Formats: sequence, structure tokens, C-alpha cells
Amino acid sequence: MPATPELKPTETNFPAIVVSGIQPSGTLHLGNYFGAIRQHILLHDQFQSYFFIVNYHALTTLQDPEALKKYTIDVALDYLALGFDPSKSNLFLQSDVPQVTELSWIFYTITPVSQLEKGVSFKDKVAQGLTANAGLFNYPILQAADILVYGGTQVPVGADQKQNVEICRDLAARFNDRFASENPILPIPEPYILDDVAVVPGTDGRKMSKSYGNTIGIFDEGKELKKKVMSIVTDSTPLEDPKDPDTCNVFALISLFASDDRREEIAAAYRAGGYGYGHAKNDLLSLITETFAEARERRRTLETDTDYVIDVLRAGGVQGREQAERIMEPVRTAAGLITTY
Ligand code: ADP
Repeated sequence: MPATPELKPTETNFPAIVVSGIQPSGTLHLGNYFGAIRQHILLHDQFQSYFFIVNYHALTTLQDPEALKKYTIDVALDYLALGFDPSKSNLFLQSDVPQVTELSWIFYTITPVSQLEKGVSFKDKVAQGLTANAGLFNYPILQAADILVYGGTQVPVGADQKQNVEICRDLAARFNDRFASENPILPIPEPYILDDVAVVPGTDGRKMSKSYGNTIGIFDEGKELKKKVMSIVTDSTPLEDPKDPDTCNVFALISLFASDDRREEIAAAYRAGGYGYGHAKNDLLSLITETFAEARERRRTLETDTDYVIDVLRAGGVQGREQAERIMEPVRTAAGLITTY
């Protein structure tokens, strides 16, 4: 496991608050684990932090209520099973903090449409000839509100999401300039990207992503896990020939799990020959099974106690709303929004 990450101080010297959203739009996979969840678990007990399951975001693409409910609870189960300690941090539902959509509205009024038209996800969708709904168009604004409503200063994200943090930084600066220039209310958050986070390849060698159907679930096991691992695409170098570990998808996955010594041992076996892709896949299978063995046990226990999971989310939501209100009160006042309750 990497050492505790160092956090950059923010430009405005607000206290360090780590925030991150997790989309419940499918089963979480190894790309999500190594690209995001592992960092969340590392950070969650080191700093004041808020981790929320972004079900409003998921609704832009997942409009199947039963599936949305299932994936939402699954994300909570996954995080708790993987070591998220709710006594050290807050895990809750985006829909339990209505201030997020309130802040989004305020942000709509200070965002040029042209900035949203440059959004990567929006542009991708349009390029594919699909109709994007207004939710997808405004997705980066909701994401900015998600971060800023808790006064978030550090946002652990994958390199692919840097653009959205840029929009968030712009919005915070614009809000402060327009409404709170003397005493800035919103911090300018920093993306927090671990240097050693690689793009995790899927079974077909492309980036692992639920949209490509090439994922290996964190909690896949037994026959399903074996089938997926065995289906990882390799070249057709015969078993006895030497192989290059650095161009092999199986080895790229092995590298994520293995200790340095084990990785070097397997790399040497690749180069020596007599070690086939079948062997490599079996080694990967054992590494995945061992790495998540404890988490798998914990998840099985948690699945039988969903009341506990709901209690965790409820308690996290209370903290989330309290923090959001601390930010929203001065935000409303600064913008001239009168409330009479
Ligand atoms: P998906 O591509 O399956 O829809 P998301 O876009 O919901 O995944 O990603 C959630 C988080 O997981 C993001 O922080 C993203 O950077 C990270 N992530 C997703 N896939 C990968 C991958 N293959 N390699 C590294 N990180 C990934």
C-alpha cells in the first residue's frame, strides 16, 4: 500500500477538507478500485472528509429505479467492506443533502453555456450521435456543487476528471469575485491525483470501463471471476517462448496486486520462457482472490445487515447536511437570497 498521500495547501488557505463522489451506476470494478477507491480509503481517516454516493449524477444515464437503488446500496457495502470506517469519516447519499441542488442552481446563473459545451462527457455523447439530456450537460456544475457545498479543498480524482475540477475551480473563483470579493466564501479546490495511478486495462486491453463491458468486478468470485480472468486478451506467443511482460495486459493487472518481489519474480518468468499466459492468469486469479479475501468476508456479513448500512448512511447524511448548511448560509446571504424560515 502506498504511504499516506501529501496534500497540497490550497490557494485560499481554507482548512483541508477531502471530498469525493462515487457514482452508483454499475458494479464497481478493478479500475474504480485502483483509480479511485483505494485512494479514498487511504485518505478517509487522515482528514476531515466527505464521501457521497452520487445518485443524482447516476440518474443522468441510469433511469431504472430498482437498479439505481441496488447499485446505491452496493456502493455503500463495497466501501464498508473495503475498509471505510464510518467513525472516522462520512459516507452518505447525495440525495440526502438537498443543499447540493440548491448550490447547483446558484452556479447555473454564473456559468456561461459555452463552458459547458466544451465538457468532455457532453461532447463525447454528442459526437456519438446520442442526445444528451440537460442533466448530462450540467453534470460538471452538480459536481462543482458537490465539492464546494462541503468547502472541499482536495478532490481525489482520476486524471480523466481533471477538467471537471477545473470547472469547479472556475466557479468557486467566479462566485467569490462576484459575491464575496472581500471575504472569499468558497475555497479553490485542488485535484488530488496520485502519480502512480495507472489506467487499469480491461479484459480486452482497452481502459477498464463499464461502458466497454470489459470489467472485472472487485467482488467477483468463483466461476465468474475465473471466466473473466481467463478471457483477458493476450498475444499468441507459445508457452515455451520468452515473453515481454511490459506489453501484456495480464501482467499489467498482476503489477497492481503483487508485491515488488513477486512482480519481479513473475516478470523474470515471462522473460525466461516456459511460463505461459495460462500460468500468468492463474497467478492473477490467486492474487485477486487473496487481496480481497477479507473484504469479501466482511461484505458477506454486511449484506445480512442492511439496517446497519442504512444507519451509516443516515448518520453520514446528518454530518453532510450540517457542513453544507455552514457553507450555504453565507452563500445565500452573499448572493442576496432572502430565506424566511
Ligand atoms: P466507468 O468508466 O466504469 O464508468 P467511472 O467513470 O464511474 O468508471 O469512474 C469512477 C472512478 O474510477 C473515476 O475516478 C475514474 O478515474 C476511476 N476509473 C475508472 N476506470 C478506471 C480505469 N480503467 N483505470 C483507472 N481508474 C479508473
